[in-house]
Amino acid sequence: MSKLIASAAIRGAHHVFNNAEELLKKVIDGKGEDYLFEFPDTAFYLPMIYAMTGKQVKTVGDMKEALEMTRGLLHEEPDEHIWKPYLGEALDSGMAILFAEEIWLALRYIEGLEPVTDPDTGYVYNGFITDTIQRNLGIQLVDGTMPGFAVIIGAAPDEDTAVNILRELQEKNILIFLSGESNGDSCTKQLLRKGIELGWDTRIVPLGPGTEHTLYAADWAIRASLIFGGMKPGDFKGNLRYTKERVFAFALGLGPMDDIKWATGAGAINMGFPAVCDTDVPVIHPTGVTTYEEVDKELDHAKIVQKVIEVRGLKIIVEKPPIPVAYGPAFEGERIRKDDTFIEFGGNRSAAFEWVRTRELDDIEDGKINIVGDNWQEEYEKGGVMPLGILVEVAGRKMQADFEPIIERRLHHNINEGQGIWHMGQRDINWIRISHAARKNGFALEDIGKIHHAMAHSRFKSIVDKVQVTLLTKEEDVIKMREEARSAWEIRDERMATLTDESVDTFYSCLLCQSFAPSHTCVITPERLGLCGAYNWLDGKAAFEIDPTGGNQPIQKGQTIDAVKGRWTGVDEYLKQSTGGAVETLNAYTIMDNPMTSCGCFECIVAIIPEANGVMIVQRGHTDMTPIGMKFSTLAGTVGGGLQTPGFMGVGVNFISSKKFLYADGGLKRVVWMTKALKERVKEHFEARAQEEGVPDLLDKIADETICEDSEKLLEYLTSVSHPALEMDPML
Ligand code: SF4
Ligand code: ZN
Repeated sequence: MSKLIASAAIRGAHHVFNNAEELLKKVIDGKGEDYLFEFPDTAFYLPMIYAMTGKQVKTVGDMKEALEMTRGLLHEEPDEHIWKPYLGEALDSGMAILFAEEIWLALRYIEGLEPVTDPDTGYVYNGFITDTIQRNLGIQLVDGTMPGFAVIIGAAPDEDTAVNILRELQEKNILIFLSGESNGDSCTKQLLRKGIELGWDTRIVPLGPGTEHTLYAADWAIRASLIFGGMKPGDFKGNLRYTKERVFAFALGLGPMDDIKWATGAGAINMGFPAVCDTDVPVIHPTGVTTYEEVDKELDHAKIVQKVIEVRGLKIIVEKPPIPVAYGPAFEGERIRKDDTFIEFGGNRSAAFEWVRTRELDDIEDGKINIVGDNWQEEYEKGGVMPLGILVEVAGRKMQADFEPIIERRLHHNINEGQGIWHMGQRDINWIRISHAARKNGFALEDIGKIHHAMAHSRFKSIVDKVQVTLLTKEEDVIKMREEARSAWEIRDERMATLTDESVDTFYSCLLCQSFAPSHTCVITPERLGLCGAYNWLDGKAAFEIDPTGGNQPIQKGQTIDAVKGRWTGVDEYLKQSTGGAVETLNAYTIMDNPMTSCGCFECIVAIIPEANGVMIVQRGHTDMTPIGMKFSTLAGTVGGGLQTPGFMGVGVNFISSKKFLYADGGLKRVVWMTKALKERVKEHFEARAQEEGVPDLLDKIADETICEDSEKLLEYLTSVSHPALEMDPML
């Protein structure tokens, strides 16, 4: 490590440290040392300090202690006359600056200075990244949808270069964080000036205007280690190893480097994240933290993304259909307003449907796109509203009718990922919009067929050999085939309804989250989907066909040990082996006795409320208090990490209205409190199930946050409505 850089990093760390110290004095004077602080929606205190040292910073006084500890990591600048490698000093400074930045930003939150609003544009930066977003992204992390994460610090030489770099990263599905400035400008401002949509939907997230705001990205990376990796707070080696090996992050330093950038960069190197700069910086070869160049340069902006991908060794597989607009998940969140719409289909404005059906191999022609309708060209050219029936026919030696709904569900994403094309709904309530911009680029009606053809092949390689698409544009044709589709859906739904845990002899595992939570296995049965809500039994079955060595494996049920609690010999054997002995047995239908483990991506948490003799359910994203005195974020901290915690369990939303939900504990009638949002979401199925249980008005008897947020009022309410849980056997 060059002495120059080491000196810069050390100076930078001192600088931020001094800022933090100064602000700390001010906050202590104003609010006192006992003042409590939490970053928004997190259970991890000041995550970097917590992960590295185990210290739970809860008050301003704790911040003072943490800052004193940080002082010990600060070094003097290296002596002019003595040569030594400086590595240790620079890396210490890197850790020191991350701690100091974290404390400084926390103090700024207390002072109401974070998240920052840009004074010129009124743009509000993201600020701290919440646990909720972290868990939402978890699934994309594990399924490889997102191959990596970029932090861009500074500004590109001009706006177009900024846009080009961003687009290149977006097309590779890389999540982008922006921070810092150079020469008085920043990538955030450059993109805003170009009218680029920023935010989580487009995966370009401006964290804040300072280099110090890069810390929010580091905080997010280190939490992945705690949440998904099950690493212990204080195990700094384990946590740093995890971020190096499992979190594919890197930085692009655009514009001149300064002391704070070097120091923050040294912090990133500690975490195993390399940086590539567009200025003539000294290259830093592997120093032992990593096996790749830690700082490298690429002066050509057209090559800088490729360079950093090589340095970090990212595997990027992007398949794009042959259409005249950009394509990729980065465009999924894009909305198309009425005024920007060239033509639309469905959405109650015209007859429409989309349907996937299985055919014999000889019956269809791969890649054929039929447009049926005499004057469809004229109609399409006119724009406005048009009927559209989309029939996607697939054939393959391994294709099964059971896979149709899975392929059909992807139709939504297939269309939505095109730039300037938008999709909502499914089956006969679908709605598609094509923007003027896409039309100008030459997007034609048959491109809808081309997208489905290419993406069905790419996403379902091993089950789909042929794909043929028919587009119907004449209203009477659409209506006629829609009837046919409706009867097919009815048959499909009936089959789904008869799929029970008893009716099959094979369950499926999901091991996707093991890359983060090594002792977690989701056991997916027909009546219990994965806790992230993204995988049900059919998905597991299809995924296994698609990739027999992948993350979804069949589990032979074996002998039933306990039909009420849901325990089988085959499941126990499988779990022992798949969790390396960490989990020995599982009861699928109870929360009280060896319940399913949780990785961290659960949609909801079910938790026992002993005094109410029932359970509450809270969904991810609910930030208010719950009757057991814990917020979702705190609860999530106790439930995750691949542990079996009797009384607590992470579940997918759809499991709530399953017959097997808490089956051994008395079922649905145990639910005494549930958030309002969740009540609304599950209403239809829940009420049908409540009817079956003989308590048709159960949902009304369940309290929510508008009724109470503490257990005392909860009990009053339950008594006043004679909630059935009060009469049931004691849970404990
Ligand atoms: Fe993770 Fe379970 Fe979802 Fe699979 S089903 S991605 S293991 S939470
Ligand atoms: Zn998970």
